[in-house]
Amino acid sequence: MSAQSAIPRRTLHDELVALVRNMITEGELRPGSRIAETRLCTRFGVSRTPLREALKVLSVEGLVQLLPNKGATVVRVTQKQVEEILAILGALEALAGELACARIDEESIARIKSAHGQMVEHFCNGEKLSYYKLNCTIHEAIFEAADNKMLGETHSMLQARLSTLLFVAPDSPPRWAEAVEDHEQMMAALEARDGARFAQIARRHISHRAEMMQIALDTLEARSHDTTRHWAAQPIVNSRGLDHGKGDELEP
Ligand SMILES: [Zn+2]
Repeated sequence: MSAQSAIPRRTLHDELVALVRNMITEGELRPGSRIAETRLCTRFGVSRTPLREALKVLSVEGLVQLLPNKGATVVRVTQKQVEEILAILGALEALAGELACARIDEESIARIKSAHGQMVEHFCNGEKLSYYKLNCTIHEAIFEAADNKMLGETHSMLQARLSTLLFVAPDSPPRWAEAVEDHEQMMAALEARDGARFAQIARRHISHRAEMMQIALDTLEARSHDTTRHWAAQPIVNSRGLDHGKGDELEP
């Protein structure tokens, strides 16, 4: 891993931030787990200083907690924080949808439609990580079409705070199908430029997400009582790379 993962100095800071962020959002580093700095330095071929700088950036993003003399851990958001964030995200997504429906041009609709088609393909193939990335692309494109920078920035900031929980919940095909159905309807509302309808579906989409977040929180809670399996220290990346299709049963 180390040889391929060494980073050229020019982009060291940004690259390192992105790499560690991905380890957190893609489930390799679990909420509440300690970040083994020496291991990461070896893996990425960097010294402590740039790694610490990267961890500071991630702490500002709300992904990492830095404790004096104790090092860094992945943030574990509480149920109350999740509820508060989702309540705001529901309102923001609805507002972005309304603004986007009023302002979006044909070209942007075509681009989002194409991303939607690819996302549905990933769903059909059970490719969770690729699906998730396009799902984010589509939501971001709606915010872009809304053309309100502050709205977009607030959304990104809150969205990041929930990203530690993304791959914690075990797979649920019915819930995944529900989310895809929401997206089908959001696309139809966008094409019809029906802002009120889009806002209604966006709120429902967030309530579906709230159900998944609750399962993720319950899963974390169950693991913290299961002291024999040392979940927090167990990465879910194997030699073939990330494979979220098999959920939490994967061994390193
Ligand atoms: Zn979505």
